[in-house]
Order: sequence, then C-alpha cells, then structure tokens
Amino acid sequence: MESSKIGSFFSKLSQVLLGKRMIIAKSQKDLDRMREVGELIAEVREALRRMIEPGITTLELNAVAEKMMRDAGATPTFIGYKPHGMVPFPFAICASVNEAIVHGFSNDIPLKEGDIVSLDMAATYNGFVGDTAFTAPVGEITDELKQLIRVTEECLALAIEQCYPNKRVGDIGHAVQQHAEKYGYGIVRDYTGHGIGRAMHEAPQIANYGRPGTREKIRAGYCFAIEPMLNLGTQETKTLEDKWTVVTKDGKPSAHAEHSIAITADGPEILTLTKEQKAALKNGKKETVAA
Ligand code: MG
Repeated sequence: MESSKIGSFFSKLSQVLLGKRMIIAKSQKDLDRMREVGELIAEVREALRRMIEPGITTLELNAVAEKMMRDAGATPTFIGYKPHGMVPFPFAICASVNEAIVHGFSNDIPLKEGDIVSLDMAATYNGFVGDTAFTAPVGEITDELKQLIRVTEECLALAIEQCYPNKRVGDIGHAVQQHAEKYGYGIVRDYTGHGIGRAMHEAPQIANYGRPGTREKIRAGYCFAIEPMLNLGTQETKTLEDKWTVVTKDGKPSAHAEHSIAITADGPEILTLTKEQKAALKNGKKETVAA
C-alpha cells in the first residue's frame, strides 16, 4: 500500500517534469487562435500606450486593460495567477515604474514627468494566451532612459530575427546579450521569456543571454514569448514585501519589451501586433512594430 503510494507520486512527478521539458508545437488551427489572442492583447497594449502621461495612475491603466479584455470576451491571464508557493497576482497588468523590473502592482500614485513605466499584460481567449510588454516614457525623459528603452526594443527585434526553424534557443539569448552588453546594461538573469500556448508559461525557458548553437532546436509551430529585461545598473534583483514586485538591487531604472511570436517555416511571425501594425508591416514599414 505504502509503496504504491510512493510509486504513483513519483510517476506523477516525473510526468510533470517531462511535461515541463516538452515543447508543444502548435497546429494551424492553434496558430490561428494564437493570432487572434495576440491581436487582441496588442490592441490593449496600444490603447494603454496612448494613455500614458504625467498624472495618470497605474490603477487607471489596469482598469482600462481589464475592461478591454473582458469586453472582447477574453480573460486577464494574470489575475489570480499563482505559481507554486506564491500569493495570487491581483491585477490584469503588471505595472513596473522606474527601478521596478517586472510584476509591479498597480497603485494610485500618479505617474510623473521623467518616469518610465513598464506594462506587461496577457489575455486568454478561446483557450490560448497572448503576452506582451513595453516600457514607455512619462512625458519628457532623460537621454539615458531613452537609450535604455530603445536598446531594449532593439534587443527584442534582434532576438525575434533568430527565430527560424533549425536555429537554437541559445541563439535568441545570445542576440540579446551581445547587443545589451555593448551598452553595459545589466541583463536580468532571474526572469526569462518562455514558450506560450494554452498555458502562459510553457517550455522552453528563453533566457536573455546564451551561447549560439546551444539549447533546444527551434521548430515550425513553436510559439515563444520573448522578453528582454535590461537594467541601467546591476543585473541583480530583489523582490518587495508584496511578494511580487521585482526591483533592481541598486535602485537604477529597468526596461522591458515583449512580443509573443510563432515560428513558421518561413521564420518568425509576431503574434502581438494590432491590425494597424500588421497592415503597416505588410507595406514594409518595419519600424512601427517595436513593442
Ligand atoms: Mg511573458
């Protein structure tokens, strides 16, 4: 009796571990759903981007994001999200101001001129998840911060350019690392991008550093959420008392950019673009697709 209990425990555990390692390739039908939810969350992202100005609070941004998702028939994926040993995340968006890197709580403190704010958001629609993030200036910001945001977006674009069948996950991290290090930025190691699909976090982990030609082989049908997080100072992080908000250890600012993408036979397809951005991309205006 006792031994079978232990046996089933172990077999269940090993299934979980195996499941975590397995990368799920999406069918054409799955990819259509990923496109739908990707566009939906991109519309939310762009609506929030337009609202950011001195005086607005992250609670106001959160309320708009949650309403847009629910009005579209989607669920805010972050609300109630509870990794093992954590308290459930209470908001539809992560709002991380200045030295906050990721997972910040919305609050009623007005954003002020010169701040930067990183907004991360995810929706579930028809069983699939879209996940995207960006960092925006609040009013006029310093050139130092403008460059941090620009380089973070460039890192994301360079990472996406690696996403062709038969390349490796290490190529993605390498692309981010070599660009970020030119500027001396701290590359966050404690948090990574991830596979995405029916679950927000699927295999593989996609680190923002790495060696070319290492790690998992990239195949058509895989969907990734790629998300460089760059710090003006140290790469080291700490978590605040709310158990979620991650900040830089040295208190210097941090930027974040994220797209969900699909790997097709022809290369990467960014899923988290608005209708307008997709049309612009078709017309060859690539510069408009930065997260
Ligand atoms: Mg993500």
